[in-house]
Amino acid sequence: MSLASPVLEAKGVTKSFGAFTAVRNVSLAVYPQEVVAIIGPNGAGKTTLFDLLTGRKAPDSGEVSLFGRVVTHEPPWRRVHRGLGRSFQVSSVFPTLTALENVQIGILLARKQTFQLFGQASLAHRAQAAALLDQVGLRDRMDRLAGELSYGDQRALELAVALSSRPKVLLLDEPTAGMGGEETDECLSRVKAIAAAESIPVLFIEHDMSVVFSFATRVIVLVAGEVLVNGAPAVVRADERVREAYFGESF
Ligand code: ADP
Ligand code: MG
Repeated sequence: MSLASPVLEAKGVTKSFGAFTAVRNVSLAVYPQEVVAIIGPNGAGKTTLFDLLTGRKAPDSGEVSLFGRVVTHEPPWRRVHRGLGRSFQVSSVFPTLTALENVQIGILLARKQTFQLFGQASLAHRAQAAALLDQVGLRDRMDRLAGELSYGDQRALELAVALSSRPKVLLLDEPTAGMGGEETDECLSRVKAIAAAESIPVLFIEHDMSVVFSFATRVIVLVAGEVLVNGAPAVVRADERVREAYFGESF
């Protein structure tokens, strides 16, 4: 692993909101084939860190690289074109469009075919969009309005939209949030299958420890904006400091 170059890397990134530092001097790297979980208590800075990695926010200091290229100040769309796929903690699908249309628009945006957004979107890339919906288990619901899908199905749709840009690394912010046990298992086995089939490394934020320890090949613990521990799941699970940060929670 140490011989490979990271697909995604942060070096000493810091982000403050006024006097409050949400992410402090964080360094991390994601290597090919890895499934890395970021865990940490609410407010630890996980989503802010994702924003720095995806370009929704710029760090005050530090550097972000994607496939060996410094992208610290590049906007999100440029990072998407470089191969970064992302799903959000808060649902980002268009509720009044069908599931199929949501994915078609994702494909058009990724291919910069925005001139087709109006008019031809309903025809464009139909087969590819349907195939992506099939991959996430939504083929039979592709003509339903996104806003009418169950919460779990909306998250699955978001995953299909994230995949529509053919990402080479996938960032998922709490992909199973709000899902029941069965939905969580389905969602995870899908992400696992897709990541394995297409060799896409995954960096995901997750609050459910059973998910983390059944899925991740490495775990990064963020507490108060800083990396507390970064290591193999078994090592993290046994770490006394992690147990303290999560006192009361068992995992
Ligand atoms: P997590 O995803 O780990 O729950 P966040 O990254 O969402 O944490 O938030 C980390 C901290 O930064 C929280 O205390 C939050 O209130 C604060 N924060 C996040 N975004 C902003 C913002 N835009 N302005 C001010 N404070 C923010
Ligand atoms: Mg968050």
